[in-house]
Amino acid sequence: MSNIPELFGSMVFNDTVMKARLPKSAYKALKETREQGKTLDPKVADVVANAMKEWALEKGATHFTHWFQPMTGITAEKHDSFISPIDGERVIMEFSGKELIKGEPDASSFPSGGLRATFEARGYTAWDPTSDAFIKENSLCIPTAFYSYGGEALDKKTPLLRSMDAVNKQALRILRLFGNTEAVRVTTTVGPEQEYFLIDKALYEKRKDLIYTGRTLIGAKPPKGQELDDHYFGALKPRVASFMADLNEELWKLGILAKTEHNEVAPSQHELAPIFTSSNIATDHNQLVMEVMKKVAIKHGLTCLLHEKPFAGINGNGKHNNWSMSTDKGENLLEPGETPSENAQFLLFLAAVIKAVDEHQDLLRISVASAANDHRLGANEAPPAIVSMFVGEDLKEILDAIEAGKPCVKKDRVFMEIGTDVLPKTPKDTTDRNRTSPFAFTGNKFEFRMAGSSDSIACPNMMLNTIIADALCEFADQLEKADDFKGTLNTLIQKTIKEHKRIIFNGNNYAPEWIDEAAKRGLLNLHSTVEALPYYIKPENIALFEKHGVLTKTEVVSRYEIQLENYYKQVGIEAFTMVDMIRKDLLPAAASYMKDLSETANGKKQLCPDLCCGYEEALLKKLSELSSELYEKVEALDSAVNTDREFKDTLEQAQYFRNTVFAKMAKTRTVADKLEPLLGSDYLPYPTYGELLFSV
Ligand code: ADP
Ligand code: MG
Repeated sequence: MSNIPELFGSMVFNDTVMKARLPKSAYKALKETREQGKTLDPKVADVVANAMKEWALEKGATHFTHWFQPMTGITAEKHDSFISPIDGERVIMEFSGKELIKGEPDASSFPSGGLRATFEARGYTAWDPTSDAFIKENSLCIPTAFYSYGGEALDKKTPLLRSMDAVNKQALRILRLFGNTEAVRVTTTVGPEQEYFLIDKALYEKRKDLIYTGRTLIGAKPPKGQELDDHYFGALKPRVASFMADLNEELWKLGILAKTEHNEVAPSQHELAPIFTSSNIATDHNQLVMEVMKKVAIKHGLTCLLHEKPFAGINGNGKHNNWSMSTDKGENLLEPGETPSENAQFLLFLAAVIKAVDEHQDLLRISVASAANDHRLGANEAPPAIVSMFVGEDLKEILDAIEAGKPCVKKDRVFMEIGTDVLPKTPKDTTDRNRTSPFAFTGNKFEFRMAGSSDSIACPNMMLNTIIADALCEFADQLEKADDFKGTLNTLIQKTIKEHKRIIFNGNNYAPEWIDEAAKRGLLNLHSTVEALPYYIKPENIALFEKHGVLTKTEVVSRYEIQLENYYKQVGIEAFTMVDMIRKDLLPAAASYMKDLSETANGKKQLCPDLCCGYEEALLKKLSELSSELYEKVEALDSAVNTDREFKDTLEQAQYFRNTVFAKMAKTRTVADKLEPLLGSDYLPYPTYGELLFSV
């Protein structure tokens, strides 16, 4: 491999390149735009655009594109070449400030949830100078926000940026109260751990369900799955290792801090974790990670599966969203400090998170809701659909003591009163033992483990930022008008713990008893996307987003509509695929096996009437019964999904797909999975679970 420090970021128009290539004044103006959000003078934009173009041409780029994140959850790009005709015969390569700053892609075919009627299909993209431009396959990609003619956000990036501003504003208010006058900006930081499967591409291509839906819709349990736990952290197989080497190289070129890689629990499952960065950049980078993973896999004759539950019965894929806040001076606000005052500040930020998570369980659940992730949340490897929070035993004891107003003895020291004593340092690894919690404090950050592997992390982070900004805002409102800061602070932290401690659960989240216990505590348990989404448009939630300038009412409603629409469309595609596979592949395979079996039995009888045909007859009977049963089920599924029913709204339609179509799919699958293992190997119409999982 080439020199990594030299390779790193070589395809990124980053600060170093800007500094080297821009005139001083332009560099300074751009830096102010990037760091303080100042508007860029159009003349400066022209200079920046030109420097970007020169740099991109040297790297072999021929095109540029505004790179944006519509509500599909993946990224979008429309490429324009740099060519510009002169004197009718020749071209020169041009790129203007105007082209850099604003684009006008046709927006009519992106989901808008009713935001944008087709007659005003215009959508605009606007340069996000806080995320660096980069080169991908001969195109200069400019990260942009995407919005409608009326200014409403049509993408995932805009609300995320707004939510980061909200946290910045409220966290700075708190810092000022603690006497911090130095910090200029508070940024939320994210390190997303990405899980994925790698399977052989040739086998993948034989499975319509994987091609159309990203997951297997049928498939019997293989003789071996993950029972032995022999894959987790196991030695990398050569093909996987060479995939990872290539992947790292591609990601490093894009300035992505790919750091940790290992085998995960399920056979063929792996994980990649980057070093954390600001939420906005982490989100852009994670979109690129997913895209590059898929591309590099193809080069290695592999297919990368990012679906939340590609295989039933074994672990699915998640995306652990490690989250914190830090100042521009590098202070992590969730790091317990060295001094009493720092610790009082830490406890206040911690209290804000506790309050936010408890008050907005619904929004956190919604932020990770999709048809795909429904399979995972509540299955045995992922956190359940119930949102709760792990803080570790040490911190819990301290919180209990604060609540009771009593001193807490820790490690031979007495922890007395907020703001007068130093918190006992808890070694990081003692806080991270609980792997079952959906929201775990891991020493100096929170790990939100409910996010789906294939989803953008923009939405979970937008939600986290907004609810925490709101809690901080409420605290700041009270503290700013307090005469006795320390007294008010003590009461505030104590009161918050008292009111919201029900959200703290250090036990096993997979245990069935937790469901009853959570119900007793009054915690929400929103099993599915369809149950969760109606909470999005509750007046108090709309008011919350509007208060912090993150989403308008119209934007919330459109997002609610889009998520519901995605849900029923996804389930619909799955149902159609299942019908297709069973009708065209599985049942005909069973029929031809039955034909051969009956011909064998007949042949044997003709040859010698006394020959025993017990095997053929018994198997024929089983196959015949299961085939008929499967046929009935698939017919019922087909008529359910081909409905011409009128729905009064999107919610009713999504409910129908959940309660009727999806339910029928489960029943159909049960029969299909009984039939499949009875077929002779030569008759199997598609690769089995065993073949798929142990193919690499
Ligand atoms: P795990 O035990 O879950 O593997 P690690 O300590 O390896 O945890 O960290 C996982 C992720 O958390 C990494 O992406 C790391 O960069 C990220 N992380 C660490 N500190 C922070 C922080 N302050 N803010 C956001 N993410 C962070
Ligand atoms: Mg983790």
